[in-house]
Amino acid sequence: MITCISPIDDTTLVEREPLSSEDAAKAAARARDAQPGWAARPLDERISLVRAATQIVGTMNDEIVPELARQMGRPVRFGGEFGGFAQRADHMSDIAAEALADIEVEDSGEFHRLIKRVPHGVVLVVAPWNYPYMTAINTIAPALIAGNTVVLKHASQTPLVGERLAKAFHQAGIPEDVFQNVFLDHATTSELIAGGAFDFVNFTGSVEGGRAIERAAAGTFTGLGLELGGKDPGYVMEDADLDAAVDTLIDGAMFNSGQCCCGIERIYVVESLFDAFVEKAVKIVEGYKLGDPLDPDTTMGPMAQPRFADMIRAQTAEAVAAGAKTLIDPAVFPKDGGAYLMPQILVDVDHSMRVMREESFGPVVGIMKVADDAEAIALMNDSEYGLTASLWTQDEARAMSIADRIETGTVYMNRADYLDPALCWTGCKNTGRGGGLSVIGYQNLTRPKSYHFKKA
Ligand code: NAP
Repeated sequence: MITCISPIDDTTLVEREPLSSEDAAKAAARARDAQPGWAARPLDERISLVRAATQIVGTMNDEIVPELARQMGRPVRFGGEFGGFAQRADHMSDIAAEALADIEVEDSGEFHRLIKRVPHGVVLVVAPWNYPYMTAINTIAPALIAGNTVVLKHASQTPLVGERLAKAFHQAGIPEDVFQNVFLDHATTSELIAGGAFDFVNFTGSVEGGRAIERAAAGTFTGLGLELGGKDPGYVMEDADLDAAVDTLIDGAMFNSGQCCCGIERIYVVESLFDAFVEKAVKIVEGYKLGDPLDPDTTMGPMAQPRFADMIRAQTAEAVAAGAKTLIDPAVFPKDGGAYLMPQILVDVDHSMRVMREESFGPVVGIMKVADDAEAIALMNDSEYGLTASLWTQDEARAMSIADRIETGTVYMNRADYLDPALCWTGCKNTGRGGGLSVIGYQNLTRPKSYHFKKA
């Protein structure tokens, strides 16, 4: 059974029977049968349908916001994900005609030579619970617009999200077999992939999950997009706008109870600003209100599952045993316990500690003093992950030179924890392969097909 236990109070919120392997294969087959007809529709029509579906999701927002709080714990005061969701779908709609345009090489009396971008066929989207609408739409919108059919397998923590999306997309007029939400267990997902049921799989989630998908796809030549974990660093230089740096980096570390793929997990501050940075950071964190996410005053909800909070408690305890110091007083957060995890800032940390090396995916951040750019670059690169890095300076040339030396998918200057749909969302090392959104997202959701016509 696929079960969502609410992190608010440990009650069972949703239960869904996963598809049997036979029914799952039938669903994938229906998606395959529907694909040529969908791809044959004019591009403008596909775009209009996706835009209409996006708007319908917006009309559901008042119901979605508390529903999300119950499923994964994000406070209602933040108003859900519709802003980013619509921005991404709209951007991918806006750029589709140009991104998918034929590349004309020659159209003369003798030859017509061109490259078209054609859809892969059936795309499986495996989505996580942490930003369940925004991460899913990153692939669903461009995959459909490009002429693929889509099968969505959403996270067990957020089963209502896939159902909402299916409702909205079908209400907009997208045929049921063109966009399907399915409940699948891991074994059946792997079985379908291994059997070649999909032409492309976009997986967003943990490194271990990504490995399982890659193993399932081995030898099938199924295309894969893998958007996995991170341990994203921030680096504050001596000419940084300190207030902006502290506000943005601490928000980046703590928002959504730290459960952001591109959340800030480690901060390096130049010696001259270290004490001031830490003091301001503590003040901000002590102002958070940890509690019931349905309460409009709450700024930090529970983590999605008690085991996630326990893992961070263990990381923190190990760091403290190795000499780290915690700066946030537990008395400020009496609600701490179970899935409710108080935020924490650690100093006197180093890279021998798990909390500075392994993904925490929660409201804890280590802050370390650095002497110069060389030390900061070495520390930022001392990681098995590479999703984003956030640089704080007024000097663009210096930021560019550092950015060129960081092993990462995205580098920010003076911002963090933000996804720009016009740029490619991508990672390196164990953060994954491929890239979503932007014109590159369209390249990855289609294949090139060359036409070489000799006239007479
Ligand atoms: P997860 O456990 O890997 O789950 C993510 C999704 O993958 C869920 O739908 C899950 O299904 C499914 N899944 C996991 N293992 C699978 C398998 N062996 N076969 C089939 N499906 C499988 O990750 P999570 O804990 O939900 O999400 C947090 C992780 O996602 C973090 O590491 C975070 O950094 C990463 N993330 C990365 C990005 C990015 O853009 N790079 C964005 C968001 C999140 P069930 O729920 O049914 O298990």
